[in-house]
Amino acid sequence: MNYISTRGGMAAQGFSDILLGGLAPDGGLVVPDVYPQIDKATLQSWRTLSYSQLAFEIVSRFATDIPAEDVRRLVEAAYTEQAFGTPDITPLTELESGLHLLHLSNGPTLAFKDIAMQLLGQLFEYVLAQRGEAVNIIGATSGDTGSAAEYAMRSKKGVNVFMLSPHGRMSPFQRAQMFSLQDANIHNIAVEGTFDDCQDIVKAINNDAAFKQKYKVSAVNSINWGRIVAQVVYYFRAYLQVAGQIGDEVDFVVPSGNFGNICAGHIARQMGLPVGKLVVATNENDVLDEFFRTGRYTVRASKDTHATSSPSMDISKASNLERFVFDLIERDSAALAGLWRDVDSTGGFDLGKTPFFARMVGEFGFSSGKSTHADRIATIRAAKAKWNVVLDPHTADGVKVALEARRPGVPMVTLETALPAKFEATILEALNETPPRPAALANLESLPQRSEVLPNDVEAVKRYVVDALN
Ligand SMILES: *Cc1c(COP(=O)(O)O)cnc(C)c1O
Repeated sequence: MNYISTRGGMAAQGFSDILLGGLAPDGGLVVPDVYPQIDKATLQSWRTLSYSQLAFEIVSRFATDIPAEDVRRLVEAAYTEQAFGTPDITPLTELESGLHLLHLSNGPTLAFKDIAMQLLGQLFEYVLAQRGEAVNIIGATSGDTGSAAEYAMRSKKGVNVFMLSPHGRMSPFQRAQMFSLQDANIHNIAVEGTFDDCQDIVKAINNDAAFKQKYKVSAVNSINWGRIVAQVVYYFRAYLQVAGQIGDEVDFVVPSGNFGNICAGHIARQMGLPVGKLVVATNENDVLDEFFRTGRYTVRASKDTHATSSPSMDISKASNLERFVFDLIERDSAALAGLWRDVDSTGGFDLGKTPFFARMVGEFGFSSGKSTHADRIATIRAAKAKWNVVLDPHTADGVKVALEARRPGVPMVTLETALPAKFEATILEALNETPPRPAALANLESLPQRSEVLPNDVEAVKRYVVDALN
């Protein structure tokens, strides 16, 4: 399988070549030249597979330049009961008849990002060893992504992580999760500034081409293709568990921000998985809800991006949307490049008056819904009262939208994207009680912590990186 850029300006490359990179050189996103097709007989034969066996079947179809036995070893190392607390990896529960919750948050940082990151850690170490190379991942986090990356990359050979976070602005839980890691290759940098300042520093470092090359600067952000592939697996797994017969439709609702998680659902559907509807759930930051309702994609300014009680969905633009739009417009890379030029020059584009708008809903099965703070709180309360389940705020946004979007006779699966333990304040507001926490993390905040406080200054961060590597 070869990988190309959505904008048409990249020579075809293999999986190992694109794994460590971010954007394609032409500014587009990398996508496979064709989606592998899974027929019904194959799907049927996958019903009895374990999570890692299924992951092998799917990942090996995308990572065709890695020997099959190596892919098998890497997925088995990533998806262990030890890391995910359950042999199921992604257990499924039924809230009421036909309404399911897919539990994706049992990994080390209690959010769905662990599922992709744990595999990415294995893949990075493997590809770097094959090539005799090393990388330095420099990223910015407001909490979730950074900790998932650190737990995946800890003690991996050939990888250093430098994670910038806003000093004093993360929750005590998030801070303890990251700063208690004692691995020598993990560097927590608390920047005296905001999350945006952290992101600006990372951007400035990446714009310094000489520094970037000399110090092999890399990233593991949400556009990383390896992450998307890893997420395709759990759509298949949930489908195989929920569908009465292979071929029956199953609908999915996905709490969305950067469109990474649901993009994997789109790919599963393109591979032939009989997904009915893919429903995007947003919070008050409704860029995606607007797009799927009207065809209009309008990027928000950072001052118009609300800080909400489902903070991991607080986005102003959806970085993975380009992968879906590429398929929607029949993989016309010149037209795609034009649309994203419009994003850069006018802040968006409008497909509402084109034939593609009807196809988003029809042929591609997409729809959307939105949830606000009041909805979130009401849903957390109702879920506790009705099903005796404590939902995290992001998953509550999903369940709110699922209840509106469900169709008679079609199973509906909501993806749980975090555990409530990560968001104590909102749970306390909704239920007047603190959320349950996995026993292993009971004393997290009292563990010794390691971090370096640095001024909001690019040069200071660069100096720290250089010193750490020498
Ligand atoms: C990252 C994240 C999301 C959004 O996922 P995308 O792939 O960016 O759409 C939703 N919920 C939680 C808890 C997250 O950490």
